Amino acid sequence: MEYKKLVGLYNSIEATSKRLEKTYLVAEFLKKTDIDDIPKIMLLLQGRVFPPFDERTLGVATRMVIKALNKSLGIDADAIEREWKRTGDLGITAENLAEKKKQMALFTTKVMVSKVFTNLRKLAEMEGSGTVDRKVSLISELLTSASPDEARYIIRTVLEDLRVGIGEGVLRDAIVWAFFEDSIHINYDTESKSIKPENRELYNAYVEAVQEAFDILNDFAEIAMLAKTSGLKGLKAVGVVVGKPLKVMLYKKVKDIEEAFESVGKPAAFEYKYDGFRIQVHKKDGKITVFTRRLEEVTAQFPEVVEYIKKNVKASSFILDAECVGYDVKSKKYLPFQSISQRIKRKHDIQEMSDKFPVEVNVFDILNYEGKSVIKSPFRERRALIEKIVSPLPYSIIPAKQIVTSDLDEAKRFYDAALKAGEEGVMAKNLDGIYKPGSRVGYGVKVKPVMESLDLVIVAAEWGEGKRSGWLTSFSLACYDPDTGSFMEIGKVGTGVKEKVELGVSFEQLTELLKPVIIKEKGRDVTVKPMVVVEVNFEEIQKSPTYSSGYALRFPRVIRIREDRSPDECSDLALVQDLYSTQRSR
Ligand code: ATP
Repeated sequence: MEYKKLVGLYNSIEATSKRLEKTYLVAEFLKKTDIDDIPKIMLLLQGRVFPPFDERTLGVATRMVIKALNKSLGIDADAIEREWKRTGDLGITAENLAEKKKQMALFTTKVMVSKVFTNLRKLAEMEGSGTVDRKVSLISELLTSASPDEARYIIRTVLEDLRVGIGEGVLRDAIVWAFFEDSIHINYDTESKSIKPENRELYNAYVEAVQEAFDILNDFAEIAMLAKTSGLKGLKAVGVVVGKPLKVMLYKKVKDIEEAFESVGKPAAFEYKYDGFRIQVHKKDGKITVFTRRLEEVTAQFPEVVEYIKKNVKASSFILDAECVGYDVKSKKYLPFQSISQRIKRKHDIQEMSDKFPVEVNVFDILNYEGKSVIKSPFRERRALIEKIVSPLPYSIIPAKQIVTSDLDEAKRFYDAALKAGEEGVMAKNLDGIYKPGSRVGYGVKVKPVMESLDLVIVAAEWGEGKRSGWLTSFSLACYDPDTGSFMEIGKVGTGVKEKVELGVSFEQLTELLKPVIIKEKGRDVTVKPMVVVEVNFEEIQKSPTYSSGYALRFPRVIRIREDRSPDECSDLALVQDLYSTQRSR
């Protein structure tokens, strides 16, 4: 397929804010796409060439793009920089410059989707000396034959900043519309941009089937192929596979123990809510792999966890869901998450880190046992399995501390004990609940005394002035809108007079993290790739026309950087709305 066609789709998607219209556009496009191109299109629509759990990144810095533009268009770097300063966007810069060149040359070679895809994938594989030059060549090879608007999207994709406004919901529904239209007759009306499925229940069942398969596989490219080639049956057959990480189940927050019982029923299981870092542990053919909740592999960073699993879990194949909690080597007191967060990304001195900041593994769920998926088994059975296979060894590995009760006082005492032990609170779980990957269903709820905080992603920042001109000192925070895949601003935090109050982490630290992901600069304002997630406390949520979310935070304060959270896992708009409407009762 010619890349031009995909660019046409990008343009039409960007031109509408209507979710159903976006879905229709994508679905119609997929219907006409050759089977070989479907996976590439699904990924490129998300601005990526690898599925989300794949750790490879393209690693292209803005200066490489400038070199590539210089090489392919023959325009000198200073002129490119000037144009970039003027537009503030390298994609638009590429488009404008290619437009100029258009008058001089004819585009004889067509850019193909497969060529873009292959070259981008190659970018991720480059290592060692000469990498920059080879990367520049791969990009400029594409730009040489690209038309102006192709150049714009190539550059945005290369910089991993596509932003056309497609969220998971649109992709999910588009798969249904494209491949199951014959069975459900969606009846999209292009005038009113609305749908009238012949059978709403059936339609919802298809949407749910795609969603469930996605929650397990986490890859729309694979899901679209399955839907196309094996239909509903294929989607339903998607199972939990050991070795392949799947999304974790999330929990709702309730006010207190009474509400916990109301939510999950009686009797309920209560467990300590450990303040640590969530891992998914897979074991197959003697090999143990540890993933974060972002589905990144961290096996090498946690050698002692691998040892505990090897020695103290008696089964040959499984997937466990667990929380690693740090503790003080001498006093054996549990430590808050921050104490071990540095271990997640650490690539050197691993043993030293493990000796200094050891963790205890608290196993609270099991998703696969001896090759069989158990996510549809009731929680009481999954818990029994955990107790059967995990031999507890305190400060190494234990099943999460649990009681099962219908008694309010007993549950309250357990909650107090959890807080006394330095834990965050408790989880209450429905004994018959299944495990729903990726969802915040009510089979389990959390109770903790502190006010709900939000996990927000930094989308823009401002350079400081005077002594601080080399540092970013003000940060725009955004929540996630899963429908459009975009980030909606909800407030700003910064230094200045209230510095200590607003930033619980240093602006130097934030600058280091954000500098490499700056994608636009205009004066003191910079736009950054939405990558850094921070946890934010606040006094109140207010309605506000100032920010795109429609809400603003009163007295926001950053409490920590959440390395364990990916941007699309940050708090979504629905949660903000929820908190807004319930805050009075807090
Ligand atoms: P928080 O910020 O409150 O930790 P979260 O937003 O990261 O919550 P939630 O799903 O809302 O995630 O809360 C549950 C989290 O608590 C899990 O992701 C897990 O990391 C942690 N946790 C600690 N102990 C348990 C337990 N016994 N059962 C389930 N989750 C637990």
